[in-house]
Amino acid sequence: ATTDNLLTMSNVEVVYDKVFLAIKGVSLQVGKGDMVALLGANGAGKSTTLKTISGLLAPERGAVTRGTVEFQGRNILPLGAPARVALGMVHVLEGRRIFEHLTPEDNLLAAFPSRGSRQRFNELKEQVFTYFPRLKERARTKSGYLSGGEQQMLAIGRALMTEPELIMLDEPSLGLAPLLVQEIFAIIREINQQQKVSVLLVEQNASAALEIVRHAYLIENGHVVMDGKAEVLRQNPDVQEFYLGGA
Ligand code: ATP
Repeated sequence: ATTDNLLTMSNVEVVYDKVFLAIKGVSLQVGKGDMVALLGANGAGKSTTLKTISGLLAPERGAVTRGTVEFQGRNILPLGAPARVALGMVHVLEGRRIFEHLTPEDNLLAAFPSRGSRQRFNELKEQVFTYFPRLKERARTKSGYLSGGEQQMLAIGRALMTEPELIMLDEPSLGLAPLLVQEIFAIIREINQQQKVSVLLVEQNASAALEIVRHAYLIENGHVVMDGKAEVLRQNPDVQEFYLGGA
């Protein structure tokens, strides 16, 4: 726990429908400008962890959270999702969830805060197009016609329109060919370094994630079972066997 922490999650438990303990005392930290991964198999509790941070767990559907989540030193659990976005965090959901009937440009506009100026919108849009030139080429096509990779680029671009300090990405590699995964991960890293945006990356693709992050947490069955620097984890025999496919 250093003063440079942007996000600190301590002993968080999430119970669904009063009975199902989906995460069981998860603690993790993301520093300012940091790049951190949360790795684990299907159902391990990664998405639940991200939703707890971004405020997208649905209490009306029986999700109950215990523990603390601090962002910039402030307890955010009582805040709703929009208030958390206003504080500087954004969550790119698994499966992209873009507006398919809108063009990429209009998707970017929909994500841009309504209080912002037209000039700021254009600056941010051009910045997104600098990272993802393919979106510019397709800016006037309905987004439903974009490829899976282009839709993922748009989902990330849309998140950047909120000028976040922390961007949380849920499985950006899902369904993409290996070369495209590398391309998108390289751009995520560039965004991290150039914009000083902290990144919390949830992935089942551990080998690709461990190539770009500084630190990673391994989650199994709702517990953090190990964490460490990416280069240390890559050398760990258990990580190699269970997360890197015996590489
Ligand atoms: P995935 O890769 O499928 O997203 P994950 O590691 O992100 O996996 P979670 O989605 O966080 O895992 O799910 C953790 C556990 O909680 C799973 O057993 C899942 O079935 C359960 N779960 C998730 N959402 C709900 C919900 N709304 N109500 C009840 N149980 C849920």
